Amino acid sequence: MTSRVETWCNILHDFPAYARRDPAPRRLEIAAGGRTTDVRPQLTLELFRQANSADRAEVPIPDDVLELYSMYRPTPLIRAKAFEQALGTKSRIYVKFEGQNAAGSHKLNSAIAQAYYFKKAGVERIVTGTGAGQWGAAISWACGRAGLGATVFMVGVSYRQKPLRPVMMRVYGGEVHESPSEVTEVGRAGRIKDPQRIGSLSIANGEAIEIARSVAGARFAVGSGENHVLLHQTIIGQEAVNQMEEIGDYPNVVTACVGAGSNFAGISFPFIRNSRKSGRNVRIIAAEPVACPKLTRGLYAYDMSDASSTTPYVRMMTLGRDVSVPGIHAGGLRYHGTSPLLSAMYQDGLFEARSFPQRKVFETAVLFARSTGMIVAPESAHALAAAADAAREATTPISVLANVSGHGLLDLSSYDAYLNSEIDDGLPDEANIARSLTLLRQRNEQLEEAI
Ligand SMILES: *Cc1c(COP(=O)(O)O)cnc(C)c1O
Repeated sequence: MTSRVETWCNILHDFPAYARRDPAPRRLEIAAGGRTTDVRPQLTLELFRQANSADRAEVPIPDDVLELYSMYRPTPLIRAKAFEQALGTKSRIYVKFEGQNAAGSHKLNSAIAQAYYFKKAGVERIVTGTGAGQWGAAISWACGRAGLGATVFMVGVSYRQKPLRPVMMRVYGGEVHESPSEVTEVGRAGRIKDPQRIGSLSIANGEAIEIARSVAGARFAVGSGENHVLLHQTIIGQEAVNQMEEIGDYPNVVTACVGAGSNFAGISFPFIRNSRKSGRNVRIIAAEPVACPKLTRGLYAYDMSDASSTTPYVRMMTLGRDVSVPGIHAGGLRYHGTSPLLSAMYQDGLFEARSFPQRKVFETAVLFARSTGMIVAPESAHALAAAADAAREATTPISVLANVSGHGLLDLSSYDAYLNSEIDDGLPDEANIARSLTLLRQRNEQLEEAI
């Protein structure tokens, strides 16, 4: 099959300006009294190169990684005809499905790669934060296979909504804590501020960083947002470009959901490259929940990715790290910010964004399940909602490709809640968003003075 792919697509090569290091965060750090921590030494040299270097257009995937990929790749790309009919559109809707691997989502693509590079560098344990638990499950398995330990801090609300995911992690050999936890200072402080223990990815990551910095042989890793993670996910789009060519169609629109941006980058970067080369136009749409509208309503500002204020400032589309996001079922889309690289690309108009209310997302997901049999992750259903809208809004039939980032078989209780009319649209607390954005704006004004 020609869709077998042996390289990742390094989009920094196409846009070298995005690889240039922003000097502001270091200056901000100094202005802040050097309190923030550069977490970059946590990366191995090769991962650091992947995150920062524009020199290679194609990054070769190591043989050991390809061997594990071959257990589930290439992933299927199918046309969802019954879904088109159910929507009443004449447009063609294709779906790239990343939910068929054992761990259940695209996260495995980067988990396998990161475990490989960390093991090669002599690391013994990976410590990490996870939202809905997809990353935690993927890294637990990948670490187990590579002979590494895995410690995972899982966002509290998701831990309780999706109690089987922590079980998966433990089956794979991972150690899991409900975050905010009792085992770190960040967690204990989080419990006081958040007595219901809803938690957030920023607190979970803050806990993970604290442990990684205190345990010998341990390193902090992330499942999204960073450039090397986005790079690993481009295997999705590399395959999809080939698969669309095999089918003899080319998408007018590509959609994916955005948490911190890895599956979105994964499907879209190769299409952005291909379209620039071939001159074929492709519209790329990022789908996010109305509950956490960082692209559609956030600011392009300096912010931190974790609540403990230990990580360096990055410039990104963000709602501010103090925002509290409703406990929607798409736990993987509750992060307050997004990838700095994607944020810069968004500023430059390389893609669009739309937000969707929770009930519309589930309505689309149920329609999709009844048409195709596939029960998708609530996160992925956002991409389907964006695809359905694009297909319906088109005045002449078009071709739409949606990335389905994961299956929803461990999210059935969310579907149950939807079918019992027990979920709402996940509308955000407007006063809370306004407060967080004001704080963010004020902090950025002070920071600008400090630089
Ligand atoms: C983690 C996750 C997401 C969101 O993360 P991105 O890095 O933005 O892709 C989306 N869908 C699923 C199934 C996930 O597990």
